[in-house]
Amino acid sequence: MPLLPANRIQSLPQSGTLAIYQQTQQLKAQGYKICDLGIGEPVGTPPTHIQQVAKNAIDAGNYFKYPPIEGYADLRTAIANKLRRDNHIPCEAENIVVSAGAKQALANVLLSLLNPGDEIVIYTPYWATYASLVKLTGAKPVFLKGSPKHNFEPAPEQLQAALTPRTRALLFSSPCNPTGLVFSKTSLEALADVLQPHPQVLVIADEIYEYIRFVDGYTSIGSLPNMVDRVVTVNGFSKSFSMTGWRVGYMAAPQWLAKACTRLQGQLTGGVNTIAQRAALAALELTEDEISIGRIRDLYLTRRDLAVQLFKALPGFDFHVPSGAFYLFPDVRYYLDKAVGVPTMHDTNAFCAYMLTNAHVSLIPGATFGEPHCVRISYGVSEATLREANDRLQRALARWPT
Ligand code: PLP
Repeated sequence: MPLLPANRIQSLPQSGTLAIYQQTQQLKAQGYKICDLGIGEPVGTPPTHIQQVAKNAIDAGNYFKYPPIEGYADLRTAIANKLRRDNHIPCEAENIVVSAGAKQALANVLLSLLNPGDEIVIYTPYWATYASLVKLTGAKPVFLKGSPKHNFEPAPEQLQAALTPRTRALLFSSPCNPTGLVFSKTSLEALADVLQPHPQVLVIADEIYEYIRFVDGYTSIGSLPNMVDRVVTVNGFSKSFSMTGWRVGYMAAPQWLAKACTRLQGQLTGGVNTIAQRAALAALELTEDEISIGRIRDLYLTRRDLAVQLFKALPGFDFHVPSGAFYLFPDVRYYLDKAVGVPTMHDTNAFCAYMLTNAHVSLIPGATFGEPHCVRISYGVSEATLREANDRLQRALARWPT
């Protein structure tokens, strides 16, 4: 008998992001200069105050022992204060669980909520991890996609039609990775209205890109009066504070679910790294000016506008101008199934593999996000990289027949 991992791992889709990442690293190791538009890394580094607090925490010598599983009490209180003050979400420290990134917060919620056979509606395109985590639970994902004309936002009637007695949750990100869609207050209210007659359905709202948005106003669905105790808000420090490597995220959940997630996390990983938690607390104590939210937003906005201008100029790259996050998500079906000029490509996996090996530009195929005709372009890179990538793609695409 060959030695094999468990079925649950064998059936777990390998992250498309990871596959391209590995190929990109291999090519870089061979000395190729790759324009990497595949990564989801924010620009910049954590504010220096946050870095200093982490250094001080080590020197203080008080943070060598296991932390509480659910997170330090002062950090959970500060998170609850932030969510009440900025997001108008009614919550207390008891609703907060601090995890190793928003990713673990999502894993905790899905594993604590879903039984095999349950259904969860996932707004599509989605962040790839959602589908993989749901697979681990044995629940059935119901992928709901609106019209590309509306940047894929499903209409309330579509949600209505997707709900069944087995539906336990609805999951989406806003701002959305990969489309950049930011759900308006009106959309969220319409969605909440659809859910009113279905009290067994929770909403899991992933707000990790909260600070990276280019539209006025931001509504958290957890703030709507008719959604009290029915929303899990997931957020973290990775994107807002450029702290991806520090691995701190959190959820605000109804208490029964926060307790369940703490129980699970206690068996899986325990509490989050002590020093990173002190740094996260320091991040929440900064004022908007100190974090330079406005400056960061302006920087991403300039980068977005450049990316839009460059990539709209490529024939056959069809996309909405994103309102948040730092990705473009063009439909490139124009380049598929063409029989002359280049090897025929039937899907964007082949298209991205071709661009990586021939143009040395790394993009993520859309199937990873549930939309196979698109590719994801990250503009969380320098302007020079964006321009160079665009030049290389333009040259490679010129080989296609028009
Ligand atoms: N949610 C979305 C939509 C993301 O794009 C990402 C990372 O790319 C995460 C969650 C993970 O965040 P964290 O680094 O806090 O685990």
